[in-house]
Amino acid sequence: MEHDADVIVVGAGAAGLWAAGTAAALGRTVLVVEKTARAGSKVLASGGTRCNLTTTLGPDEAAKLFGAGERFIQPALRALPPSEVRARFHAMGVPTVEEPDLEKVFPASQRAIDVRDALYERARVAGAAFLFAAAVHHVAPDGDGWVVTLLDRTLRCRKLLLCPGGKSYPATGTTGDGYAWLWELGLTQVTPVPALVPLTSDAEWVTELAGIALQETEVRLHDPSDRIVARRARPVLFTHHGLSGPGAMDLSAHVARAALAGPVTGWTVAIDTLPHRGQEELRQALVDGSRAPGGPHLARVLGEALPARLMAAVCRQAGLSGENPPLHQVDRSARNRLVDALKGLRVPVSGTLGWDKAEVTAGGLALDEVSRTTMAVKRHPGLYAFGELLDLSGPIGGLNFQAAFATADLAARDACR
Ligand SMILES: Cc1cc2nc3c(=O)[nH]c(=O)nc-3n(C[C@H](O)[C@H](O)[C@H](O)COP(=O)(O)OP(=O)(O)OC[C@H]3O[C@@H](n4cnc5c(N)ncnc54)[C@H](O)[C@@H]3O)c2cc1C
Repeated sequence: MEHDADVIVVGAGAAGLWAAGTAAALGRTVLVVEKTARAGSKVLASGGTRCNLTTTLGPDEAAKLFGAGERFIQPALRALPPSEVRARFHAMGVPTVEEPDLEKVFPASQRAIDVRDALYERARVAGAAFLFAAAVHHVAPDGDGWVVTLLDRTLRCRKLLLCPGGKSYPATGTTGDGYAWLWELGLTQVTPVPALVPLTSDAEWVTELAGIALQETEVRLHDPSDRIVARRARPVLFTHHGLSGPGAMDLSAHVARAALAGPVTGWTVAIDTLPHRGQEELRQALVDGSRAPGGPHLARVLGEALPARLMAAVCRQAGLSGENPPLHQVDRSARNRLVDALKGLRVPVSGTLGWDKAEVTAGGLALDEVSRTTMAVKRHPGLYAFGELLDLSGPIGGLNFQAAFATADLAARDACR
């Protein structure tokens, strides 16, 4: 059977561009088929157009952030660690810089387009061919290879690399097309849900706090039985919809999964408004304040660390009126409620802003369908799946590009063996 290329890569996103560059550099003929008119749309949009392309963490620390995917992603991250991704970009003419918070790495130019162009040029110069505005409709095994069906033609290859992404940010071309192909191939999937997306709240008092950001905080997600489902020490921002910022967005996949079963009720995010002060220390400070003659007001004891609107919300949740009560008026049980509210202001959440605003997809091709050392689909020789198509997602901080590059590299190398 005549083949159009040794390797066809479906999707010219972060993973597809990386895989195409690696496979072409290993001497294979490579054809990349991309639905939209350009390569790397999400790379261009990423990190506020600055592209947080990887992390300063080592491979094993980074793997831990993938939750249930830790064991799966470990070999890929060890084979192509974040430090090596930085070195490769440097070699491509894109030096990188670290940002102190969240272990982030950006191009020194602060321009996502430099990352996209470098990935595209690496693949093109190595000899990969690109077909743009070409949506794949169907893939199927075909003798000793694979056939890929587009609207107006069919293409044949020996090895098929699937990386069409997930369903998040559909405006960039990712509308979940790959899931139908996986279904046709009889492969198990975990229902995809939007992730790394702001949370919504129906509570008016929450949306009235819009604009308040807490840079240093710890957030905990509680399910309706009050169990802590996840926690993150990352900034949060109150918005007109509810909560945003890395802390809230990192929790969102759990809320989105709960929403699959119906309306989200009883879920709360507990925000530690004073993470550097322990419960007992705070309680004692309030007791001391209440004993002082003439008694200071709450804000003095808290060191005026919290914006007045937030203090008022904390006091309301503790059953106190006003935003800054004099402490001699705060009795023991109110003091306990106040400490509870300061260390865990409960924000009711009603859902997420959904696919349009989600940075990634959680869920996708079940990891046990894929070899973690090669990204080969176990039940279909010659087929590889990687990037966001997999049931694998990390928190904010360059982890998702890092996973896309590392899984792509393993797939391309194995496909070229
Ligand atoms: C706004 C935003 C900001 C982000 N910021 C960051 C960040 O700073 N750091 C970070 O690590 N991650 C970030 N992410 C997440 C990151 O973009 C993804 O994790 C990553 O792009 C996944 O790579 P991928 O190649 O698997 O999928 P994608 O990059 O989504 O690429 C998939 C490609 O396949 C194409 N395709 C889809 N269907 C078909 C079809 N039928 N036929 C042919 N082609 C098809 C799509 O058009 C697309 O080009 C961000 C995401 C968004 C939306």
